[in-house]
Amino acid sequence: MPVLFVGHGSPMNAIEHNAFTETLPGLSARLPKPRAVCVVSAHWVTTGAHVMTSAHPKTIHDFYGFPRPLYEVQYPAPGAPSEAEKLANNPEMAPEIAPDDEWGLDHGAWSVLRHMYPKADVPAFQLSLDERRSFKEHLELGREIQKLRERGVLILGSGNIVHNLRRIDWKEPHGAYDWAVEFDARVKQAVLAHDTKSLAQPEKWGEALLATAHPTVEHYLPLLYCMGSTDERDAVSYPYEGFDFGSISMRMILFGEAKGAE
Ligand code: ZN
Repeated sequence: MPVLFVGHGSPMNAIEHNAFTETLPGLSARLPKPRAVCVVSAHWVTTGAHVMTSAHPKTIHDFYGFPRPLYEVQYPAPGAPSEAEKLANNPEMAPEIAPDDEWGLDHGAWSVLRHMYPKADVPAFQLSLDERRSFKEHLELGREIQKLRERGVLILGSGNIVHNLRRIDWKEPHGAYDWAVEFDARVKQAVLAHDTKSLAQPEKWGEALLATAHPTVEHYLPLLYCMGSTDERDAVSYPYEGFDFGSISMRMILFGEAKGAE
């Protein structure tokens, strides 16, 4: 099964139709139909890693001040407790991942999935971001979940390659700051070369550059799970690239082959 990283951007993408959202159904049609999707979302940060084991995950509206229709969206995909429970309390994983039946699907998951699988017929579960882990340790956990691919589970990292909400420039719907272009290009190049060492030390590209591209790193971390669960043999392609409002990279990365080129 391929692995996918999606830059989800604004929650409004859940209900809008634009060049980014229109890429998603075409892409899912070219992927093998997954038995389940394991989402690593920027919007689920915990102390210690958790895995969502709910059979009927709720739709979590984890944002404020958006129009009412966005709060009315429900994404009723079933959970995948049998897959989730293989990750939970697994002694092969150190530290162990805790089962969590409280969490549902946050907007990092459903704002993307509802475009990919609008019938909500593909089971979905989430793996959280353990705030105590270093970049390298996130990458290592990515390696540990690689086996999901053999079982037909799509690993979906949902964040953004550049994400600085403080520097949003509403006058530039698709423009980008120089630093945003630079950080995005560094990542693009490192991903192509499967240079996990550089990707796990993004501060080496410049402490200031990292701090500007990611004042907090939760939108960067899902990429490390994609990198950990893939290797040089997975072809890399970018089904969508571009910037929103100067400071958000919408780059999408597919690792592995899709059926037929578009
Ligand atoms: Zn986000």
